Amino acid sequence: MYRPRVLIIEDEARIVEVLTWYLQKDGCEVLAALDGETGLEMALSERPDAIILDLMLPGLHGLEVCRRIRRESRVPILMLTARDAESDKVLGLETGADDYVAKPFSSRELMARVRALLRRATFSDSMARDRLSFPGLEIDPAGHEAALNGQPVRLTPMEFQILLLMARSPGRAFNREEIIEHASGMEFIDARTVDVHIRHLRAKLGEDPSNPRYLHTVWGVGYKFEVVT
Ligand code: CA
Repeated sequence: MYRPRVLIIEDEARIVEVLTWYLQKDGCEVLAALDGETGLEMALSERPDAIILDLMLPGLHGLEVCRRIRRESRVPILMLTARDAESDKVLGLETGADDYVAKPFSSRELMARVRALLRRATFSDSMARDRLSFPGLEIDPAGHEAALNGQPVRLTPMEFQILLLMARSPGRAFNREEIIEHASGMEFIDARTVDVHIRHLRAKLGEDPSNPRYLHTVWGVGYKFEVVT
């Protein structure tokens, strides 16, 4: 049976203990870290299905932990904030947390929020793993592989992410900023770099630049994926 893994990053042992009890009773596997550094490390190495993250942590602050997790992962994060600290909530959500619960919280409320996060995560995760098939082109998100007419195409991680992003919404025009943001998470690459990646992608997909089959230029906007047969 599938048991969701939940990582608790919280320095108060009493809270960890209570949350662990409720989560286990709910069928979850529980991992815990008592400080920010350990929590960050576990978030990235253990690949939990959801994270409960306390804001006030010794060492690395919760917001920083959240920010760094977000660079690598879209795992749902529920933040524990101090009561009435409105700024904490706003900052938490801006940093990439999906939801927050103010301390002191009721375990029932917190569990309801965790379940909601896990439901959403399971849904988006199964969507994220579905193979995409187009005439002549197969994209396998789980295996990070693409095949052209049955032959594997060697794509860089960035090229793969760009192709996947656009192929998930055929016909939708993406501008360069969107492509950078969604496909890479690396804010520092230049918009023109997208053009270079597209050029490489087209070459690898055997596109005729003047008459592409999959990756089309949308003048004044950016690019879109659409199969022309
Ligand atoms: Ca704390």
